[in-house]
Amino acid sequence: MSQNKRPDGRATSQLRPISIRLGVNKNADGSCFLEWGKNTVVATVNGPRPIFPKHLADQTKAVIDYKYRMACFSVSERKSPVPGKRDKEISLVSGHALEAAVMVEQFPNTVIDVNVLILSADAGTRVAALTAASLAAADAGLPMRGLVSAVAAGRANGELILDLNKEDEDAPDAVDMATAFLMPQKELVLLQMDGCANKKDCSKILETALKGAEVVYELQKKALVEKYPMDGEIQ
Ligand code: ADP
Repeated sequence: MSQNKRPDGRATSQLRPISIRLGVNKNADGSCFLEWGKNTVVATVNGPRPIFPKHLADQTKAVIDYKYRMACFSVSERKSPVPGKRDKEISLVSGHALEAAVMVEQFPNTVIDVNVLILSADAGTRVAALTAASLAAADAGLPMRGLVSAVAAGRANGELILDLNKEDEDAPDAVDMATAFLMPQKELVLLQMDGCANKKDCSKILETALKGAEVVYELQKKALVEKYPMDGEIQ
């Protein structure tokens, strides 16, 4: 990767600044406020609780009801509060990704409610949301196999880059690959892509994303250890 600077001054492989606060909502079992560049996100987790109506129950595991929403003031043009196809699709795939981390099999016939609200958006909101939701699940004390660490990588203006902002995403040759990994296992649990890239570039983008996810994971662990000091180390 080259060290060329991008429109916002970042190097090609540099993440935007990320800051994390846990336990921000006393009415939720677990919560997280996350700032990722100009994205701001709040995630809450409640449950497990008995599921209604009963026909939605799964006898083998808890159902994760993941809701991704953008506040109407999160973008410069008012966003309709009615969830559209995009919100529903993001909710569905993100719920599946989070399910890989939570030991849902311990809570049959229940539901775990995950709500993520994007307060301000500058591209990469689904990965910021999932990163925050995973921390809110840990904050809620749910038994977990690991954390979901999510990040986008791709291409803009001929360069392979990590963590696209809106300006990067609007480049004419933009490729935007949203990824999420179960960490520390490095298991890919979400992959979505906009734009066109050949197989070789896709592999390079995925490699870049994994390196970014490793950085995100370190920040997640740091936030958890700060709130829940412990003798042992999280892997
Ligand atoms: P992500 O935020 O995960 O990158 P997209 O690629 O769909 O998801 O969106 C990129 C960015 O485009 C968003 O972060 C937001 O800044 C903007 N955007 C998305 N949906 C809307 C919308 N309905 N109205 C205005 N801007 C939007």
